[in-house]
Amino acid sequence: MKIIHSIKQTREFIRQSRKKGASIVFVPTMGALHEGHLSLLARARQLAGPRGIVAASIFVNPTQFNDPKDLAKYPRTLSADAVLCRRAGADLIFAPSANEMYASDFSTWVNEGFLSLPLCGASRPGHFRGVCTVVLKLFNIVQPDIAIFGQKDAQQAMVIQRMTRDLNCPVRIVIAPTVREKDGLAMSSRNRRLSSKQRTEAVFLNRALQSANDAFRAGIRSSAELIRNAKTVLRQASHMRPDYLELVSSTTLRPVKKASKGDLLVAAVFLGSVRLIDNRRID
Ligand code: AMP
Repeated sequence: MKIIHSIKQTREFIRQSRKKGASIVFVPTMGALHEGHLSLLARARQLAGPRGIVAASIFVNPTQFNDPKDLAKYPRTLSADAVLCRRAGADLIFAPSANEMYASDFSTWVNEGFLSLPLCGASRPGHFRGVCTVVLKLFNIVQPDIAIFGQKDAQQAMVIQRMTRDLNCPVRIVIAPTVREKDGLAMSSRNRRLSSKQRTEAVFLNRALQSANDAFRAGIRSSAELIRNAKTVLRQASHMRPDYLELVSSTTLRPVKKASKGDLLVAAVFLGSVRLIDNRRID
């Protein structure tokens, strides 16, 4: 497995691999890898086959952080990440610096104009502009046949699918299921920043979504009632500050009044300064 920091050398690696006929399967990450990322890499290995190339990127993309403190505190663990990537069968880690990715007079941005507006787009201005821009740049550098994203970041995955379609990126987007801790908390690099007390409370995020889904299964269809149900569960975590909790259409990400199977329960909460998100498809 190679770790490459430069764009030029990455292009050369990809060019050589393509010459040998290898397909490229790509997993973009911000590092601090956990089982969720590893499941994406395992899926990539499967899709690439024995002769294909699995490429991961590890880049804490400054342009998608609306809060400078969040960026400063984001965990950076490249050497541990490299061990995990090698074990997961990756062939390449592309780990550029911010200067390598962004010229000092960088001035071109990708703006998805519909799916990125609500939810995290509303609470984190500029976030999806940063995500779309960096993902398109990464696609242009790595030139993957397939790129894998996690359902954990459902809105991000949808925004990227939309961008890929709208801008005719020659890449197939695969979305992989959310990997959770035993108690149901969705794995996230930010979980490392939780104190033990906050970690105990974090579990209520998923519990709230589960509880609303149980209510749906029990026959409740009113969105307002399902959301009220979830919020009651969230309130059991006394230090948790909800950012949003909504029931939205899985195609438009806009709120629905009456719930039906396939709709998405989506939530973001703060525990101290740590912002966690999760979602669950109503079934
Ligand atoms: P990040 O490093 O947080 O930017 O995540 C990189 C990729 O891993 C994104 O496509 C995420 O959606 C995905 N991911 C993060 N957490 C999980 C998880 N718990 N399960 C599955 N995929 C995840």
